[in-house]
Amino acid sequence: MNALIVIDYTYDFVVGNLPVGQPALQIEDRITELTEQFCQDGDWVVMAVDAHDKNDPYHPENSLFPVHNVRGTSGRELYGKLNDVYNNHQEKIYWLDKTRYSAFCGTDLDLQLRSRGIRNIYLAGVCTDICVLHTAIDAYNRGYGLTVHADAVASFNHEGHCWALGHFAAAMGAQILPPD
Ligand code: ZN
Repeated sequence: MNALIVIDYTYDFVVGNLPVGQPALQIEDRITELTEQFCQDGDWVVMAVDAHDKNDPYHPENSLFPVHNVRGTSGRELYGKLNDVYNNHQEKIYWLDKTRYSAFCGTDLDLQLRSRGIRNIYLAGVCTDICVLHTAIDAYNRGYGLTVHADAVASFNHEGHCWALGHFAAAMGAQILPPD
């Protein structure tokens, strides 16, 4: 079994309070297709979704970014077609609240992967050079095999996006799909 980890593809990160914008909109179809495909193939699908508490004075992102992905707000809902797929396959998809960039930080993701015997993870979502990158680093350090779907990750920072894709391959041995 493999795992697809879809990172932060929410309203706030696509078009809301902290928007990636056009590059995120461009991956909507592919990210949705991948989620459907992994569900149909009997693989494990994780929606790793940033969660902030309202008025949390201690969060390190407070000084870095505008308020986003606050628990209980529509900004935390999955965006567009991905939300439809999630609603159709809820029993097959694991919703993972995360409070830092990495989906491994402060969550039970590693335990859930281990209990299923999963050694290879596939990454999609936003931002390529922030939350996808930090999740990839933690996966690499824990010995997981990595595949990054270059056509299903995006960032507001084009240079950062390109740099991160190179870094996944060169420094973590990740497979980048589709191949050049
Ligand atoms: Zn955040």
